[in-house]
Amino acid sequence: MGKIPVGLVGATGMVGQWFARCLEDHPWFELEVLAASERSAGGVYGELVKWVADGEMPESIRRKKVQSAEPSVFADRGVKVIFSALPADRAQALERRLASEGFFVYSNASAFRMEPDVPILLPEINAEHISLVERQRSRRESGGYIITNANCTTMGLVIALKPLQDRFGIEDLVVSTYQALSGAGYPGVPSMDISANVLPYIENEDDKVVNETHKMLGRFDGKGIRPAAFPVIASCSRVAVRYGHLETAVVRLGKDFDEKLAVSAFRRFRSRACEGLPTAPVEPIIVREERDRPQPRLDCDAGSPERARGMAVTVGRIRKFDDRLRFYLLSHNTVRGAAGASVLNAEFAKVRGYL
Ligand code: NAP
Repeated sequence: MGKIPVGLVGATGMVGQWFARCLEDHPWFELEVLAASERSAGGVYGELVKWVADGEMPESIRRKKVQSAEPSVFADRGVKVIFSALPADRAQALERRLASEGFFVYSNASAFRMEPDVPILLPEINAEHISLVERQRSRRESGGYIITNANCTTMGLVIALKPLQDRFGIEDLVVSTYQALSGAGYPGVPSMDISANVLPYIENEDDKVVNETHKMLGRFDGKGIRPAAFPVIASCSRVAVRYGHLETAVVRLGKDFDEKLAVSAFRRFRSRACEGLPTAPVEPIIVREERDRPQPRLDCDAGSPERARGMAVTVGRIRKFDDRLRFYLLSHNTVRGAAGASVLNAEFAKVRGYL
């Protein structure tokens, strides 16, 4: 069977570049159409793009022409699956239009995440949420749908919380973040603001972490998501790190536990839903026992096999304090928090018959 042709909107941006990397030599998908704004349409990718993702620009796309993000452009090339790395304000109109015209949209933008019929899918933790797309109007009318990712901070967090929720229950959570510069796109935060500094504010981020955590860890009851209800306090900061969002979590658990039990819950966590998917890490959570791990520079690319590099979440400094568990977690914000997660969602959708 041939590969499935896919399109990429927002191909020239930060997340778009990581999509290009995650889709390079993909066993199931072939990157057929690269699209961006009218400013870039008509240009050659390798000449237009200032490559800031790690490694070299894939040769397969260097000479490709960048297209405008018109539905007809994708349709003419036989593309139905579209990965979107658009800013939220652009995604609002374009992603809805693409879905209404029958395309399968895998979005990284915040525009539709909190819509009741749109899943924030992460198959390792909420595989059953994919059924929500059946409730989308576009799905009934044209077959098209939108599946979103969470924001890059929430993705790593909910993976680390899931085994704790399953095994002990979660009563409340306090999370503080140290988020990498690449999370703000390119060129991102002005160097005069961030050099030798920490910024204790990222627009809308604290609320996104709270709302998206509740939705993702919620239960699908056949009609909609019943969000998790435990209190969450989130404080998000930007730090002068290139890639990798570090977070501290302090979680009050619902059952008696000790550190050993918590470590074992992290270590044993596996996803049956993701078995055999090319971008799924064998171990979604990696526990580090050294007292100074995880670190962005050392642990950002965690995950195996090779295609799943950057897809594992690393946890460390796991300690008990009364009825609370505290630990650090780290995840790659543009891979696990964006492009890699969308590709994994599409792989999962394929095996579930949604492509
Ligand atoms: P970015 O670097 O600013 O890239 C934006 C992309 O969108 C560019 O390719 C741009 O094309 C394209 N674009 C803008 N207006 C367009 C239009 N009207 N039609 C078609 N294409 C248009 O942003 P980013 O950091 O990659 O983020 C992309 C999205 O992912 C955002 O919604 C962001 O919140 C989300 N996200 C980012 C991260 C992260 O770690 N950076 C993680 C998770 C989610 P031109 O080059 O032609 O302007």
